[in-house]
Amino acid sequence: MMSRRVNAVSPSATLRISESAKKLRREGKPVIDMSVGEPDFPTPSFIIESAYKAMKEGKVFYTPTKGIPELLEAISEKLKRENNLDYTPENIIVTPGAKYAIYEAIMSVIDDGEEVILLDPSWVTYEACVQMAGGRVVWVPHDEGFESAPIEEYVSSKTKMIILNSPSNPLGVVYPESFLRKVRDLAVDEDILVMSDEVYEKIIFEGEHKSIASLDGMFERTILINGLSKTYSMTGWRLGYAVAREDIIKAMAKIQSHSVSHPTSFVQYAGVTAIKGDQSFLKDIVEEFKYRRDMLMKGLDELGLKYAPPKGAFYMFVDVERDSMEFCQEFLEKEYVATTPGSAFGKSYQTWIRISYATSRENIRDMLARLEKFLKAQ
Ligand code: PLP
Repeated sequence: MMSRRVNAVSPSATLRISESAKKLRREGKPVIDMSVGEPDFPTPSFIIESAYKAMKEGKVFYTPTKGIPELLEAISEKLKRENNLDYTPENIIVTPGAKYAIYEAIMSVIDDGEEVILLDPSWVTYEACVQMAGGRVVWVPHDEGFESAPIEEYVSSKTKMIILNSPSNPLGVVYPESFLRKVRDLAVDEDILVMSDEVYEKIIFEGEHKSIASLDGMFERTILINGLSKTYSMTGWRLGYAVAREDIIKAMAKIQSHSVSHPTSFVQYAGVTAIKGDQSFLKDIVEEFKYRRDMLMKGLDELGLKYAPPKGAFYMFVDVERDSMEFCQEFLEKEYVATTPGSAFGKSYQTWIRISYATSRENIRDMLARLEKFLKAQ
């Protein structure tokens, strides 16, 4: 009954956990949700005011498929100012969330049987999009320390794309420039595209964000993905974008024009305000995430658990040394803490779990106490 494309995608492994968490919460249990993928801060009020103003001014009708010119221009200026990239509005498309930019990009360039290299572990949506496009995912485990991976051993004549995500979900890794250069060399030598998902670029505690698109020879080969969800706490607004060669952007616009048309009109106007506005509110948010990360690292060190030390984003990937799905299910049932099994993010880390620290310090303290109790009882 269902299409080959949809049958190729597995149901989300995290669904079971989030459904159980919801059920327990309905029953009145004190659930701490450490599985969330969104900031726990409100959208800054100057952005909300801007959306309201746009609506009142009647900006409630269809917009151009690729987005309003003001937003494309604001993104182009941002890329120049912050990333040292010279892309013009012709190289940009705005989409309803970064996720849809990823979907459109993969659908635009991947054909049946073509291979896409994914670092293991990686965020769940990349694999699903590749499968829907008829492509094949080739998983590459990280080297010790999670800051590089032996990608060269996995490149074949069918490799069409490498997907990078820095800072990464679920690792929190900020890849060093040496690794970006290695990926660049491979991409140029073997004629491969790189999709660089940079949605966490502003949430960095150590090191600096560098876009692979800024390296020699990568302007034409990179599909840069970004969005407003994480930086501006705008997950529900659905606003993201892709930056690439004009032919790729045109192909993506074809998909967009025949599916969602464009992101919501007044959300795009608010997006201009967000990108061009005062960014100082972010400093406190990043400091708070860093404080929570440090709390969590200290607590996990005391419990003797191994983890990938995060330098950005708001996740920790932790080795619990047993089947991750079973661990997450039991931790939820016994201690009412929701976490995400590492098995959802790839193939090699079946005993790891992802803990999101986009939650209060109090919840983190409480979670660590429950974790200690849970581990002692095993
Ligand atoms: N890319 C990564 C790595 C993410 O973790 C997420 C959300 O969890 C997204 C993209 C999607 O962001 P958006 O809300 O803009 O679709």
